[in-house]
Amino acid sequence: RVAELAPHGRQMAPYACQRRTPLLHSNQPLTEALETLAEEAGFSGSEGRSLAFTRAASVLKALPGRLGALEELGSLPGIGEHSRRVIQDVLEDGVCTEVERVKLSERYRTMKLFTKIFGVGVRTASRWYQEGLRTLLDLQERNTKLTRQQQAGLRHYGDLNTPVERSEAESTSRAVQEAVKRFLPGASVTLAGGFRRGKPRGHDVDLLLTHPEEGREVGLLSRVVSWLDSQGLILYQHSQENSYGLREGPEPLGGRDVMDRFERCFSIFRLEVQGGPGAARGWKAVRVDLVVAPVSQFPFALLGWTGSRHFERELRRFASRERKMVLNSHALYDTRQNLFLPAASEEEIFQHLGLEYVPPAQRNA
Ligand code: ATP
Ligand code: MN
Ligand code: MN
Repeated sequence: RVAELAPHGRQMAPYACQRRTPLLHSNQPLTEALETLAEEAGFSGSEGRSLAFTRAASVLKALPGRLGALEELGSLPGIGEHSRRVIQDVLEDGVCTEVERVKLSERYRTMKLFTKIFGVGVRTASRWYQEGLRTLLDLQERNTKLTRQQQAGLRHYGDLNTPVERSEAESTSRAVQEAVKRFLPGASVTLAGGFRRGKPRGHDVDLLLTHPEEGREVGLLSRVVSWLDSQGLILYQHSQENSYGLREGPEPLGGRDVMDRFERCFSIFRLEVQGGPGAARGWKAVRVDLVVAPVSQFPFALLGWTGSRHFERELRRFASRERKMVLNSHALYDTRQNLFLPAASEEEIFQHLGLEYVPPAQRNA
């Protein structure tokens, strides 16, 4: 049975993957407030609380119009007591005192500053905060031990926290495409991530590489990266080899972690630019994720790397709770029938799950 996509708040479906969530919606002030609290909860290691706020925000993003009154919340799924209070404050006063307090707090501001460094997660940022570090200068002056990735992140902090424009994502994609063509004609480069969902700008460029003949993609990435590097296009990169084999079985990859096991490269490109920040220099540092998928896994990789993060999390939760299936960026496994369900397109994956197809532009949950 195909689960219904609710067009009206009156009967909103409980999982984000059962709903259409456009990029632009009418409840920005409310979702912003809730997402600030979600972020703050994440900074304190309260994953459950963070998820609750994220869920509430996501529900509001799927509403067809502006939430006018608190009573309308009654029929919506997944909005807890705390979120309700925040929404009430914003509806009544335009702001929520708790959110404003968080935004001004030293801890939140410092955590935000530090986690915006490429290679710095909540745990590292939190440790630095506890050690009394507060600014980027503190990190340098106190000789904080940094990984090579964090050093690059700090060096390019300004650029990497300037949004990547769509035109920049496209020229990055073209540069990779050209390199790919040199070594493996017929291989394709697909722009995934937020840009595929229609976002006009993003924090990085997510590119998926594959070849229509299974196995031909092996070894491609290292050649492409070496060549781009020799052309002076790469400021930083670290690659990881493919560590996935279907023979390993269907266990979820690393529990709650979304990390997959494709051959990949996390990098910083040196992108030639005409205008905008960096124009004086003629270039700008841009974060690029390159991922290689064998063609048989490509639809799963594309679905997994298109996001949003919350949409992905909900797809996986829906698959496991409602269908007893394990979904990741490599495959879909049916634990009742004990078999993998192959797919040649994203549409087929939604079909296997008994979900109505949600196009990328509607996955902005
Ligand atoms: P933006 O880049 O503009 O902030 P985005 O939606 O593209 O937004 P990303 O962090 O680039 O955000 O992630 C895109 C998608 O790729 C997400 O859905 C995420 O699940 C997936 N993804 C990101 N990093 C990994 C990873 N290390 N392993 C597996 N999947 C990942
Ligand atoms: Mn991205
Ligand atoms: Mn990314």
